[in-house]
Amino acid sequence: MRIATITNWAYGATVCLTLAAGATMFMASNADREERAAVSQRDQFDELAFELESDIAQLTDQARLFAVSGDPSHAIAYDRVLADIGPVEQRLTRLRDAGANAVELRSLHEGLRQAETLQDEQQAAIAAMRQGDDATARKIVFGPEYERELERAHFLLGRFRYMLDQRSDEVIRKASEASQQLRSVSEVTVSITAILFLFVLGFILKRRILRPVVTLSDVVSRLAEQDYDVQPPVFSHVDEIGDMAHAIRIFRENGLERQRLERERDADWAVRDLLARMTQRLQGCESVDDLYEVVGIFAPRIAPHLAGRLYTLDARLGLMVCNARWLGPQGSDASLDPDDCWALRRGQIHSPGAALDDVPCRHVATDARPATICVPLTAQGETIGLLALENLNGTSAPDASTAIYIELMSETIGLALANLNLRAELHEKALFDPLTGLRNRHDLSDVLGRLVVAADAAGRTLACLMMDIDLFKRLNDQFGHDAGDLVIRAVAGVLASAIRDDDLVFRYGGEEFLMLMPGLDEPRALERVSQIQARIAALDLVHDGHALGAVTISMGLAIYPDHGPAQSLIATADAALMRAKEAGRDRVVVANRRKGDVPAPA
Ligand code: GH3
Ligand code: MG
Ligand code: MG
Repeated sequence: MRIATITNWAYGATVCLTLAAGATMFMASNADREERAAVSQRDQFDELAFELESDIAQLTDQARLFAVSGDPSHAIAYDRVLADIGPVEQRLTRLRDAGANAVELRSLHEGLRQAETLQDEQQAAIAAMRQGDDATARKIVFGPEYERELERAHFLLGRFRYMLDQRSDEVIRKASEASQQLRSVSEVTVSITAILFLFVLGFILKRRILRPVVTLSDVVSRLAEQDYDVQPPVFSHVDEIGDMAHAIRIFRENGLERQRLERERDADWAVRDLLARMTQRLQGCESVDDLYEVVGIFAPRIAPHLAGRLYTLDARLGLMVCNARWLGPQGSDASLDPDDCWALRRGQIHSPGAALDDVPCRHVATDARPATICVPLTAQGETIGLLALENLNGTSAPDASTAIYIELMSETIGLALANLNLRAELHEKALFDPLTGLRNRHDLSDVLGRLVVAADAAGRTLACLMMDIDLFKRLNDQFGHDAGDLVIRAVAGVLASAIRDDDLVFRYGGEEFLMLMPGLDEPRALERVSQIQARIAALDLVHDGHALGAVTISMGLAIYPDHGPAQSLIATADAALMRAKEAGRDRVVVANRRKGDVPAPA
């Protein structure tokens, strides 16, 4: 029941009870008035009875005094008293008007008649006295007969007064009782009104207002402090407090929803921040190894419940090679055939789920098959890698936000990988000669500088061998340019096969080559020269069905620091080469600054 309804009912009940109390008070007051009227009537009757008795006594006294003294003043006083009394009917009328009933009036009438009898005798005595008959007069008013009649008159008036007293007392008693009862009823009604009022007030204030309001106030305070663990009370009664509790419950649910959304948004921001940082780091990668490290660090933080591997395409092998792994994915890190992965085949994300709602990839371990998500990494329409992820949380596909993160992550990794591949390609093109696959002279000075520093640091020598194919122009002219290219590639192949890991060979110019051999002194360098000469001599090249004949090269050898400073090492070797040409080609000339250039034995 609503508080307004309760208060309305209580108000109505209080008004009714108050009206009832007022009515009983009014009735009690009426009873009091009746009591007062009865008392007043009794006083009036008493006064009348007293008057009658007084009149009888005065008339008797005056008559007797006149009879005893003969003083005419008493006779005059008697007549005056008698004149004042008036007739019997007049007195009876006064009594009737005062409220005397018929029985009482009859009783009074009897008394009055007795008084009239006495008056007759008094007047007889006065008349006898006036006639001088004192004895008769005295006999009349002092005789036993007169005394009896006087006594009877007193008796009759006493009875009348008794009757009046009886009736008045009864009326007064009843009025008093009624008044008392009505007052009691009124007091009880007022008490009930007060108790009802206090009960309703107490009930509403304490049970229905105070206690719930205190509880709700506590809840609101905690909600204001964003403490959404607090449980708003559930009030079953339908009233304003119940409405308030309901509103607070909705407010809390909204707050919880807002908090959940804020948490989701914060988590989303955190992941996007990680993605942005990963993108920045990827852009700063100098090599694919850097990229593998960055992916290995960021991927498990972006999707903490996804274990995974990063594969990149090895174009030479035609396989996807695992280069990074995180959070312990199942299965092995072995390279996989692109045809074993549906994502690579279709160029789209493939997540069959552990329940196998879709075709599983063959590269996924079949024992305890996890929920896998394969994401192809593509750039300019070409597949260059693969993200093979496993959902550690369950067997289902990732949720919508995780799917977006995966997509963003794969895009940024794919782009970075493509950039690095492109850079590597450009780098290779810049550093390596396309015809022979050997280094060109693009970064020769840098490489030479590093080798010299290393040689200085190790106290070792650095051999520099400059080579030039003999009479190459003639060969070109004779067999064509393609045949010339064939010879250049064949010589380059010999040189590449003749070097150690530390050695470097460059295509220095058209048909010129340069070899740097750290740590080789002159004798060991000449041993290498002999090997090269022998292998070139063993070449038997045929182009377009024509034997190209013997190929020879001339070489100039300079050893750092034996033959001069580092900055003139190449020039020194080149000068030795010139000398070899001048000396008849197909030979090596060793530079020797102190003793001059000495041709090596042919
Ligand atoms: P020498 O023994 O004195 O070195 O005589 P040479 O003919 O080898 O010397 P020269 O410098 O006169 O001739 C070099 C020729 O090599 C000139 C050029 O046409 C040719 N050449 C340069 N680069 C290439 C190339 O990439 N392919 C072919 N086929 N020929 C090239
Ligand atoms: Mg040349
Ligand atoms: Mg030449």
